[in-house]
Amino acid sequence: MVRGKIPRQPSKFGRQAGVTVKAGARARAGKNAPVRPVKPKASITKRAKISAQPRPKAAQPNRPKSARPDGYNPLAPARIDDILRRLDAAYPNVRCALHHQSAWELLVATILSAQCTDARVNMVTPELFRRYPTLRDFAALSPEQLEPEIRSTGFFRNKAKSIVGAARKIETEFGGKVPDEMDSLLTLPGVARKTANVVLGSWFGKAEGVVVDTHVHRISRRLELTANNEPQKIEQDLMRVIPRQRWIDFAHQLIHHGRALCLARTPKCADCQLENLCHAADKTWSTVELHPDAK
Ligand code: SF4
Repeated sequence: MVRGKIPRQPSKFGRQAGVTVKAGARARAGKNAPVRPVKPKASITKRAKISAQPRPKAAQPNRPKSARPDGYNPLAPARIDDILRRLDAAYPNVRCALHHQSAWELLVATILSAQCTDARVNMVTPELFRRYPTLRDFAALSPEQLEPEIRSTGFFRNKAKSIVGAARKIETEFGGKVPDEMDSLLTLPGVARKTANVVLGSWFGKAEGVVVDTHVHRISRRLELTANNEPQKIEQDLMRVIPRQRWIDFAHQLIHHGRALCLARTPKCADCQLENLCHAADKTWSTVELHPDAK
């Protein structure tokens, strides 16, 4: 034997302890063979991978970032003030773009404006209100009678049902007057928070919430006032950062801004009054750094 080399000692079972014994080998080794189960390496790796995976998106809060590591805070009061001041300067005396003479006409026009441009609605409503001047006239119609009058606004069957249903409910339950409370408005067919906010803000002058239409949705995200995508959550975010007395005008101003400059596909950033406050990832021209999440 070579000096210094110790021969390997077999265990008393003729195997090294701790090694898994295959069924055949165990049978050969006899009933005293070690049976300590060794977990397969693959399952340990798998568990490690699972625990390292990020939590599902739904479980993570999706709030606007109030501050970044570099100190930039999109919700800083000074920045919000600046945005509001510039919107005031660019869009003074803003008004609802839907033509109307009463709360009922505004309610009808807002229902018609879903998935339709305000310009199209303004083409349809003058003749509509000439033929049916009062809420009672609408309540007396069947949805099928109303459909041809509003066909060009799209989704006309559902809209006709909503308008006639709302007229009848207002007649029977609210004494023929459009209610001026959010809870009551939300009981009317075809009326969700956006429509209720339009009627409350633009007719009754009540700031119960912020109108979130497609323009408000898009621009609020570009300006990093929200990181959410659902209108109700966006509204909650805006209600937190915009002073209440500005809720009505702010929504109108963003709607005007969305039509004039902050277009969905190719915003006219070079002409925008908010340009150096905006870090939107899809800007077409910029003097400031872009933030990938701002879109
Ligand atoms: S800079 Fe461009 S993206 Fe930002 S608000 Fe103005 S138009 Fe919209």
